[in-house]
Amino acid sequence: MTEPFTVEEYTARIRRAAESARAAGLAGLVVTPGPDLVYLTGYQPTAVTERLTALLVTPNADPLLVVPRLERPDAERAAGAGALRMADWADGDNPYRLPAERLDPQGRYGISDSAWAMHLLGLQQELPDSRYRSLTEALPMLRAVKDAGELDRLAAAGAAADAAYEEILEMRFAGRTEREVAADLAALLLAHGHSQVDFTVVGSGPNGANPHHEADDRRIEPGDTVVLDFGGLKHGYGSDTTRTVHVSADGSVPDQVREVHEVVRRAQQAAFEAVRPGIACQEVDRVARAVITEAGYGEYFIHRTGHGIGVTTHEPPYMVEGEQLPLVPGMCFSIEPGIYLPGRFGVRIEDIVTVTGDGGRRFNNTPRELATVS
Ligand code: ZN
Ligand code: ZN
Ligand code: ZN
Repeated sequence: MTEPFTVEEYTARIRRAAESARAAGLAGLVVTPGPDLVYLTGYQPTAVTERLTALLVTPNADPLLVVPRLERPDAERAAGAGALRMADWADGDNPYRLPAERLDPQGRYGISDSAWAMHLLGLQQELPDSRYRSLTEALPMLRAVKDAGELDRLAAAGAAADAAYEEILEMRFAGRTEREVAADLAALLLAHGHSQVDFTVVGSGPNGANPHHEADDRRIEPGDTVVLDFGGLKHGYGSDTTRTVHVSADGSVPDQVREVHEVVRRAQQAAFEAVRPGIACQEVDRVARAVITEAGYGEYFIHRTGHGIGVTTHEPPYMVEGEQLPLVPGMCFSIEPGIYLPGRFGVRIEDIVTVTGDGGRRFNNTPRELATVS
């Protein structure tokens, strides 16, 4: 049983956010519904609407959650509610009056990337001299570096996704549509404790050459290579794993499929082995890319190597050329190199990895060798 985070944990997170904001030269933070608010308060409005909800983190004052009056009872039930004060506004009020009273009119604030433009514009109208920065850009480590409780949840989500993969291997592929296999994957994630399924990519044959193909009515045939990429949230933290399988009744696999799969497997392994504190995110991408380029498939590796994961399944930092943020113990991200051959097939292998004191540790541990399915 996973216990919810405690009020003390939320208090510590908000305090760390406030200190990081000060260190970044900000007067405070404006946190709107989305992953930042979930991380800092445990609160997720049932529906994110045009009504303003915002957590204001400012120096020398308790954190203040501004909520629509009709949503206040919901907000008060959030796991981190005890770490905050709340103030509400009613339909017909100016929702920006409360923030305008609390914020420094000349201040520079970090604001959630997920804030609606209408709310940022509303704040700027009330406080024309206030300025805003992307919270992710200003505080890149705030959610990127996970604590022990978060790592446990990410490990559990990864193990659940692994269990789903092991079971899908036993199911029939040939003669069924991608959509049917995707529905099985979703059901397996839920059966293994996920509360939410975010994506179930089933890319068979030529569809596998599109990294973001979801699943359609294509009927899977013997001889197809199939990319399976699936994930969601378990206990509030994300899973995301990919394995590529081949449909073959007798276990035979064409040479080129075997070769391409082996190149991707080596690229994924090399990138994983490169993980250690202090290297830049882009280095993980470079290592994977070097293996694939060396093998002659560089132009078919059309996707970045990875993305962060936490209270969402895709978030910064990104493992991509140009991202110079250093790896820090506790960071969690995907390593998912792939080769996408237009009109033919695709191969991707993806694990979630966390940075340890001297290397990396995988949260996905199913075999990375090419599996055949019936
Ligand atoms: Zn992608
Ligand atoms: Zn994925
Ligand atoms: Zn991914």
